[in-house]
Amino acid sequence: MPKEKPELSDAMRAKMSRKTPEKNPIQGTKFTIAVSSAKGGVGKSTFATNLALALKSTGCKVGLLDADIYGPSIPKMFGIDEKPKSDGQKLEPVMKFDIQCMSIGFLTDQQTPMIWRGPMVTSAIKTFTQKVNWKDLDFIIVDMPPGTGDTQLTFSQEIKMDGAIIVSTPQEVALLDVKRGIKMFDKLGVKILGLVDNMSYFTGDDGKKYHLFGEGGVKKTAEEFDKEFLGEIPIDPKVGKFGDQGTPIVEVDPNNKISKIYLELAKKIKSSFE
Ligand code: ADP
Repeated sequence: MPKEKPELSDAMRAKMSRKTPEKNPIQGTKFTIAVSSAKGGVGKSTFATNLALALKSTGCKVGLLDADIYGPSIPKMFGIDEKPKSDGQKLEPVMKFDIQCMSIGFLTDQQTPMIWRGPMVTSAIKTFTQKVNWKDLDFIIVDMPPGTGDTQLTFSQEIKMDGAIIVSTPQEVALLDVKRGIKMFDKLGVKILGLVDNMSYFTGDDGKKYHLFGEGGVKKTAEEFDKEFLGEIPIDPKVGKFGDQGTPIVEVDPNNKISKIYLELAKKIKSSFE
């Protein structure tokens, strides 16, 4: 068993205990949902993009905000190579697959590593939430950076968030960080809509399920913290292939087993706001 790490760093705790500023809603949307993960590489952006598309196919108007300021994925995953227009006051979201999209990656060279310091992160978030012309949306899905850092803190303290979904893979080491993420959102008063177990198993040619990264850990963590377990998404190489091509699986292969799982998840999430 890996050693339990400290729950939240002292610096993080100090920032969280500062006086909470007024929370502003993002104009132009009814609800804002954060997609978060404790670690990078667990499929958070894949989840955010496919969830946005699945919500669209249930009839919702959806926006996708890539708040992963250090490593934006939406331009690649949605195949967007276009700069947003500006009227001098506000940025127009880029439309793709009928989704209103905004990403720091639209504004910078994707190859450039960015060294964003805390205050710059805050101002980028302000721009994306207050200076983008989001229009008539039911949901904005916010793709957060991994971890429990400045972006999560700023969003949770300053922006009215209607819920957070935590994506994880089932390894013990990922789960330790998930627990930290749950504690952060709980402490900041952001409702956790549920936990998702991504890449939970692989079905071999023999039809058997192989739990490559362990089994049941995300569900167990959800139960331990009295949170909803939203479900498992298996490993399918097509998910990666379509994501890399800029055409997410839910959009191009809606009858795929994984797309159907996303659709059911989207219905569940939508119904929790009705
Ligand atoms: P994160 O946003 O957490 O860093 P990504 O969404 O970029 O993670 O996903 C990491 C990699 O895993 C990508 O190559 C993606 O295509 C792949 N991936 C995510 N979910 C699945 C899945 N269910 N099956 C197969 N590959 C997946």
